[in-house]
Amino acid sequence: ILRPLADPTALLQRRDASFARVQEHYYQAPPQIERGWKHHLIDIHGQSYVDMVNNVTTVGHGHPRIAEAARSQWSLLNTNSRFHYEELVRFTERLVELAPDPLDTVFLVNSGTEAVDLALRLALSYTGNDTVLSVREAYHGWSMAADAVSSSVADNPRALETRPDWVHLVEAPNAVRGKYRGMQSAPQYLADLDRDLQTLAADGRTVAAFIAEPVFGNAGGVLLPDGYLSGVYERMRARGALCIADEVQVSYARLGRHFWGTEQQNVVPDIITIAKAMGNGHPLGAVITRRDVAERFADDGPFFSSAGGSPLSCRIGLTVLDIMRDEGLQENAEVVGRHLKQGLERLGDRFDSVGAVYGMGLYLGVELVSDRAEFTPATAVAARLCDELLLRGCIVQPTGDFKNVLKIKPPLCLSMASADHFLHALEGVLGELST
Ligand code: PMP
Repeated sequence: ILRPLADPTALLQRRDASFARVQEHYYQAPPQIERGWKHHLIDIHGQSYVDMVNNVTTVGHGHPRIAEAARSQWSLLNTNSRFHYEELVRFTERLVELAPDPLDTVFLVNSGTEAVDLALRLALSYTGNDTVLSVREAYHGWSMAADAVSSSVADNPRALETRPDWVHLVEAPNAVRGKYRGMQSAPQYLADLDRDLQTLAADGRTVAAFIAEPVFGNAGGVLLPDGYLSGVYERMRARGALCIADEVQVSYARLGRHFWGTEQQNVVPDIITIAKAMGNGHPLGAVITRRDVAERFADDGPFFSSAGGSPLSCRIGLTVLDIMRDEGLQENAEVVGRHLKQGLERLGDRFDSVGAVYGMGLYLGVELVSDRAEFTPATAVAARLCDELLLRGCIVQPTGDFKNVLKIKPPLCLSMASADHFLHALEGVLGELST
């Protein structure tokens, strides 16, 4: 056990004085982090933590190949995509190779929010329709449009009352705590969707797109019911609407067995949005779609992002993919992820406060409940657990509408030893909290 942390420091007060406080920080008394290495973070006292939450830093903190790529590209050239240079071509070709057929065209932006915003604009423009369907409890970003399709009350307590007219929320397809439960519950969710679609049609509304994460990341990595997305996509296509898979959180090799989340549901979307993992922390995002969807957007004028697709961003994006390949990180996500999930499930067998274990690869969730039969969310326990785990050298945070699901999404280089360290620490804390 590490020694207790000092009170929030003067630096924290200075942060609160100049940085909008609505941009929260983890923990009431957060450690002041000074450096990162692989899946470890080290604070100013030299204490080291296993970073179990950082799904942006896919290839790990402080990777020397990223540092070198950034240094050398900055020294050589950094400009914008109106100029012609090789890095952009190499990166977009690589993304197209990774994307499922027939997605063959890439837009490069700087974040997940920008990618979602652009995807929505593409769909509205391509279809000429007026309504976007989005699942409840989702988070897709902070811009006007990305926020409009986000309805997670954990991220915005007023979300359900304040969605604009062009957004229609559908039931959250959460097979564990949703309206219908079990992996075979897709027909019930789809029957609800059919009713929604009839109501929309009766109101004269036309559907431009359906947007959802292919694995419910915001709920803690909950797999969608079997056949849910294929049922939804079929209904969308019958109406000429586009299917957007928001892969910002869950994809890019994190699921281990799958590079894309949609593979888990056996579907191919019309538009993929990605970000986070792509740049390992460097601002990078992309929309991957079909050529005809991208071309139709020309009716709304040319598209340009000043830093999106810069030589620097493309070089970093390529380096991330090279490292993932050279270090076998997708395989590591599968092997270490499976081990971790089994360990979490074993803890679930022993401790009543563990209501469910979600996810696959290195996108896992542990739902904490105060009553297993009722599945009552144990929000305070989750918060306490995170504080106690910090003292044992593990950084993890809660997610979901009740903030009671530990989201476990470490860098993909997580070692077996660190996975075991985390399991051991969690076992200790669960034991203490249950006595
Ligand atoms: N979509 C999803 C599914 C996300 O999880 C997030 C970020 N948490 C976003 C979009 C927005 O990405 P960014 O923070 O890069 O704007």
